[in-house]
Amino acid sequence: MSTAQAQSPAPHTTIADLQSFERRYTNLPFEAILKQDILRLGLSFDGKALSGIEFKTKDYFIFTFDHVPLAEQSEEIRFRAPEEIRLSGGPFSLAKTVVSVRIDPSSPYRVSTTDRGPALFLGDQFLADVDFPPVPAWYRHTTSSGKSPGEIAPVIEWGYLIYLTVFRNCQYFGKDEECAFCDINHNWRQQRLQGRPYTGIKSIEEILEVLSFIDKEDTVAECYTITGGSVVTDLQKKGETDFYFQYIRAIEERFPGRWMGKMVVQAWEKADLLRFKEAGIKVYHPNYEVWDPELFTKLCPGKTRFIGRENWIRRIVESVDVFGPSHVIPNFVGGVELSKPYGFKTVAEAVKSTAEGLDFFMSHGVVPRFTTWCPEPYTTLSTLEKQEKPPLVYFLELLSEWKRIFEKYKLPTPPGYGPPGPGQAVFSVSAFMDVIGYQGRA
Ligand code: SF4
Repeated sequence: MSTAQAQSPAPHTTIADLQSFERRYTNLPFEAILKQDILRLGLSFDGKALSGIEFKTKDYFIFTFDHVPLAEQSEEIRFRAPEEIRLSGGPFSLAKTVVSVRIDPSSPYRVSTTDRGPALFLGDQFLADVDFPPVPAWYRHTTSSGKSPGEIAPVIEWGYLIYLTVFRNCQYFGKDEECAFCDINHNWRQQRLQGRPYTGIKSIEEILEVLSFIDKEDTVAECYTITGGSVVTDLQKKGETDFYFQYIRAIEERFPGRWMGKMVVQAWEKADLLRFKEAGIKVYHPNYEVWDPELFTKLCPGKTRFIGRENWIRRIVESVDVFGPSHVIPNFVGGVELSKPYGFKTVAEAVKSTAEGLDFFMSHGVVPRFTTWCPEPYTTLSTLEKQEKPPLVYFLELLSEWKRIFEKYKLPTPPGYGPPGPGQAVFSVSAFMDVIGYQGRA
């Protein structure tokens, strides 16, 4: 079986399905319903829609987030697809909706060219006008080491977030350690095989150089994220916390408070976190991934072995004392609870389990978010078994639960995600920001 066959063909959504979900989930804006379906099924592109216009292409900022390997993408598409698309108008009168691009040539959602520019189609049916993200002006520069700014400090979320994956590998390596849904190491290999200058460990100097371009010329970016793989032993003779700290200290010393600092790293002890807060980090993402104890063990074997589920939970809760509850935002990989062979067999069980985790964290004032599981081809899960994309109803139930629990605890809008609500949200890999504040429809 080739890697491209490792996933099932996309279940075909129809316009009638979307209309039916719109009638059923009146608690969710239609924008969120469509966004989750596109994220779930991926996007296909008509090569003509990508030619003759300038836009920001995918920088592959940490994972591939594609359903097919780079080597199996057509020449017209590979490295030519936009980072995100922004939908508007069409028969559902969509407010502007930003959606991350996950390439899947078998997706029923297709971006094609029309007289009015690119547009989204579901089968033959026109769904929305499409904008591609603009290229930031500072992308025209080259660093003194000859690299493009998008290689060192790409922006995502329509320019809102500077994404600094400073270590593009993870020392949880191979199927016995790396998270079973994660393609960070496989992405790095694919990029290098395609001949891209894909820097494994970014230097502080090159990051500061690109940030100086952004500082002078950019008016859109409001946050940066420092992230990368886990460091089990040491990296460049530094332990994990020291390795990540050096970047934050350098950025905040040079550009104090210029952007809101966020970090996506492992769950660390409170004593280790204090200096990050003092240095300027505002938001902490110790990603929890999956709530169910057995699934956590199976899907996160490295995290289980080196830190352990109970420690991970305790550290999340304790980190509230450092950053403040709403500034601790662990991520769940929405849908991975339904992956094979270990996952739940029904949508109801999967949502019940994750909702339990959401309620636990939200009861402590923590605001977990979720992303949309992307079954990339080389991950442990995709090599273990043919993966089916979770049904749309799973994501709509999860969104409903996330919104219900968030409102139950009267939590504030998570900081560092831009404005909430339909037509406003820029977070592009799930619709959780799109549903905040939505009052429902009759
Ligand atoms: S800890 Fe897990 S999710 Fe994070 S980079 Fe490593 S393998 Fe990927």
